Amino acid sequence: MNTKGIRKFKKVLVANRGEIAIRIFRALNELGIGTVAVFSKEDKYAMFRTKADEAYLLNPDKGPVDAYLDIDTIIRIAKEHQVDAIHPGYGFLSENPYFAEACEKSGIVFIGPTAGMMRAMGDKISSKKMAMEAEVPTIPGIDKAVENYEEVEKAADFIGYPVMLKASNGGGGRGMRIVNSADELEKAYREAREESRKAFGDEQIFIEKYLRSPKHIEVQILADNHGNVVHLYDRDCSVQRRHQKVVEYAPAFTVPDEVREEIFSSSIRLVKHVGYRNAGTLEFLVDDQNHPYFIEMNPRIQVEHTVSEMVTGIDIVQSQIMIAEGYALDSGEIGIPSQDAVHLNGYSIQTRITTEDPANNFLPDTGRINVYRSGSGNGLRLDGGNAYTGAEVLPYYDSLLVKVISYDRTFKGAIRKSLRALKEMRIRGVKTNIQFLINVLNHETFQEGKCYTTFIEETPELYE
Ligand code: ADP
Repeated sequence: MNTKGIRKFKKVLVANRGEIAIRIFRALNELGIGTVAVFSKEDKYAMFRTKADEAYLLNPDKGPVDAYLDIDTIIRIAKEHQVDAIHPGYGFLSENPYFAEACEKSGIVFIGPTAGMMRAMGDKISSKKMAMEAEVPTIPGIDKAVENYEEVEKAADFIGYPVMLKASNGGGGRGMRIVNSADELEKAYREAREESRKAFGDEQIFIEKYLRSPKHIEVQILADNHGNVVHLYDRDCSVQRRHQKVVEYAPAFTVPDEVREEIFSSSIRLVKHVGYRNAGTLEFLVDDQNHPYFIEMNPRIQVEHTVSEMVTGIDIVQSQIMIAEGYALDSGEIGIPSQDAVHLNGYSIQTRITTEDPANNFLPDTGRINVYRSGSGNGLRLDGGNAYTGAEVLPYYDSLLVKVISYDRTFKGAIRKSLRALKEMRIRGVKTNIQFLINVLNHETFQEGKCYTTFIEETPELYE
């Protein structure tokens, strides 16, 4: 093949920790690329650092989270050790355009979109604007940040209650407030701004219609540096707690096919409109009339990318790496000559086992894991690395222990495999949500694929 413009990586640094760092090391290993881990002093004994060929301590004077946000130290380590490219994983610096710029300035490839694309799609207001330009439907609302309370009031009256206030830079379900009537508005506005300032360092809030009980459907896309774009079908991520995903599956088979087709073509149109490249996810809400609305784009790998890999057979992380090396989707390396080459096969479900204690308002538990035995066998994939016998669960990071991913020809079969695996799991020493996940999977609404984003909130028997 034509290798002009291809930069083969010899060594890649992963600017992340835990399960996603391990997931990326594995992809790199399979591609014959050397791996470099970086870790905070708190993560000195964490499993992920031992899974890389080389591992270096980040700045020990920074806090446990700030160490992973320290661009200068990460770039310094990368340069000192002749790293060709950096994969940011999810969270931490993955959506930070300054980090992408700092990599490029140092001659290091950032495995992801460019800083400019991140700016265009990274915050919710600008991505909504881009969607409107590409004639992709968005939730009725005001397409700019609201400057003061008067503006919010006017906008809410115009849109009609219930409305939702959202932090433009929000993530992880934070910085959001549902407002049912005018007398709740002022307090909600104050709280949303405050939460956004504290969590995301800015106060940009916008307002849109609140959809009652929608489905959350998202589309995985891959785009190379040569203008080729494909989608890897959809995921249903409606099972959420406080707007955070708990169980995800692919494909989104209970949404009518014509609606799904519309979502796929909207996604491709939007990705082409912004000239986006690498992997990304476009998130939509589908209301009770089956109208889809684009809500945001995540310009990075997502926690739930696994289920799309299982049903399409495409390794998304490897694709990201090869796209960043310069390969086209239709090259022999990536091997996706056209959309028609992406086949959907079967069903896959991911449950996220966390240390959250359902009996204690899902407060994350910490401490030492005394016993860890995992499920395995036919139709199962476990992506983990934070949990093993003797592991210390730290309070500073994500409460995710392991992702249990099942695969089967039918949705019911995938549920059976997930349930069997969850029942096989033994984790002692820290509290987990395993029983809660079993209750979700056993629930008729879930089994019929009929969960809406308010399912957990409205189903108290899941806690039993
Ligand atoms: P984040 O970036 O914090 O994950 P999203 O914009 O992706 O935020 O929204 C997360 C979830 O919040 C959605 O899946 C949905 O459950 C809920 N949500 C967001 N916007 C609306 C809306 N306008 N109406 C109803 N629910 C919404």
